[in-house]
Amino acid sequence: MSDAQAAASFVLVVEDEPAIQAMIARTLRQHAFQARVALRRDEVLALAGEEACVAVLLDLGLPGDDGMDIARALRGRSDVPILMLTGRAAVRERVSGLEAGADDYIVKPFDPDELVARLRAVLRRKPKAERNRARAVAIRLGAGRLDLATREFAGPSGREKLTEQELRLLRAMVDNDGPLARASAYGLVLGRKWEPTDRSLDVHVANLRRKLRAALGGEDPIATLRGQGYELRAPASTEAGEGG
Ligand code: CA
Repeated sequence: MSDAQAAASFVLVVEDEPAIQAMIARTLRQHAFQARVALRRDEVLALAGEEACVAVLLDLGLPGDDGMDIARALRGRSDVPILMLTGRAAVRERVSGLEAGADDYIVKPFDPDELVARLRAVLRRKPKAERNRARAVAIRLGAGRLDLATREFAGPSGREKLTEQELRLLRAMVDNDGPLARASAYGLVLGRKWEPTDRSLDVHVANLRRKLRAALGGEDPIATLRGQGYELRAPASTEAGEGG
């Protein structure tokens, strides 16, 4: 598999509750998985059928379509690992979900670490899907490269160690199509809602900007677009390692 294919690998998130959806997306990104969201049955089936889809996190309580029905339809078409998200009381639901072909379930409310552990376990049990897993190891930005494991950004003019928040911020900008809105950045980077008086994002942006600039040399690599958010000026991409 080429790096381009690996970089495009994603976990499909089928969850209608905005807070849970955001928490899942954030957690996945923090663990080097890309996330895509779909809620309608036709969208879910189409995306899950893509080669790049490595697993589906499926909420059974969806407003429009029946999650159980989607699970059956998915299983009828592909071998993609399915991790169901169910309510605490819904024991029957879990049993039916497993019968419908889900690989495992996770009970709400769940801890981000538990989600990742369950997801990894499901991927381990399905080695074919494992090979398609999004395993980002680095981010390339202009002439620089960020090692995701060490958080060290190396460019032609030097090396800088990023903090966890700066790393998340950079990843969010790379993953985002178009400018990264401040409100999204608060959720993705700091895990909380934006408040007008909260300046902490500005601090992280300023620090990231200073470090990238020091390592890359030359112009400011982050553009601030008034009323829209932040955007990288230099071309950026995710570099994937070997699967497994
Ligand atoms: Ca729901």
